[in-house]
Amino acid sequence: LFDALDDQPLDAMLTLLHLLRNDPRSDKIDLGIGVYGDDNGCTPVMQAAKMAERNLIETQTSKAYLAAEGDAHFINLLAQRVLGGAEVNRYCGVQTPGGTGALRLAAELIHKANPEARVWLGTPTWINHHALIRSAGLHILEHPFFDQATQSVLFDEMMTALESARTGDVVLLHACCHNPTGADFTPAQWRTIGELVNRKGLIPLIDIAYQGLGHGMEADAAAMRTLLDSVPEAIIAASCSKNFGLYRERIGALWVKADSATAALRARGNLILIARAMWSMPPDHGAAVVRTILDSTDLTQIWLTELEQMRTRLNSMRAELAKAVPQLASVAQQSGMFALLPLNREAVADLRVKHGIYMVENGRMNIAGLQAGNLPRFAAALKPYLQG
Ligand code: PMP
Repeated sequence: LFDALDDQPLDAMLTLLHLLRNDPRSDKIDLGIGVYGDDNGCTPVMQAAKMAERNLIETQTSKAYLAAEGDAHFINLLAQRVLGGAEVNRYCGVQTPGGTGALRLAAELIHKANPEARVWLGTPTWINHHALIRSAGLHILEHPFFDQATQSVLFDEMMTALESARTGDVVLLHACCHNPTGADFTPAQWRTIGELVNRKGLIPLIDIAYQGLGHGMEADAAAMRTLLDSVPEAIIAASCSKNFGLYRERIGALWVKADSATAALRARGNLILIARAMWSMPPDHGAAVVRTILDSTDLTQIWLTELEQMRTRLNSMRAELAKAVPQLASVAQQSGMFALLPLNREAVADLRVKHGIYMVENGRMNIAGLQAGNLPRFAAALKPYLQG
């Protein structure tokens, strides 16, 4: 059986991690994998999560299955943070294994509802979007999104490309803190997208994986919520990996906004059916931690304060980098964990080999890998590779 399989190239991120771990240089700089690091390069468990875990150990009496849709209380509490005061009866939500699980579930639902639907992805986007959408059997079309050399959003080009979208096509949008570019739409651009979506009958699939790490929990969701209010149907895939620091617990949620309460209920039944055939029940621990935090005013306050510290640190590293490297002034205007530097593959490889600086081969850097102690060395190493 297995002889029929093709060899697969090693995952680029794992290869990078392997090289990093085996690099003996003590001043190596890790700007690769997309995990938040503090000023000491650590990814600690958030205090609020630790407190919630202690509470769970004391109070949890059973680990029996919950339900295919997960923990309804978790979903409702998270919905208040993600969707705000949306018209809840037109929404249905389920708990998923991470944002990845939410996106895969979304792709399966889209395919079940309309196998002819095509999904529009910006170039570039999070690399896994392609695999997740394709795995469900959906056809992908790409539209321009970002010019790496000029560090600008190609909004007109995107709108022109989307003019050829068909009714029922899906357009994937990053709610905030775009991965890998850090470049988000302006409120005016979101409005223009909303007009196009309505005029052409498209379905927005919104990926919100970094809420709270750009401009704050409410601000990062604001444009998405305005869009959601203006469209009849939409899908929202959320991740708690970054903003709760619960990466390995695999916790996220998927909401569908339907054009009636009946249609929302029908979508819910289908989501549960699909989830049953993929993971049957989502993992609970991370959701229980998030639920415990959001259910307590005190823990919520502690969590929001910690999240705010992470966000402030990211933005101060952005400002410092822009100050140290004037060619990267745009990095200070961007948000979230990533920037896609105007570097080619050779430059990225050179920085790794000569300077022990690790970033993804397309030039994506994790801003959270910068620290007061390594930023000057990074800036100095970078300058010869930048134009202007
Ligand atoms: N969407 C985007 C844009 C991401 O960057 C990520 C994580 N890298 C995810 C979704 C999924 O995150 P997770 O499955 O770890 O919750």
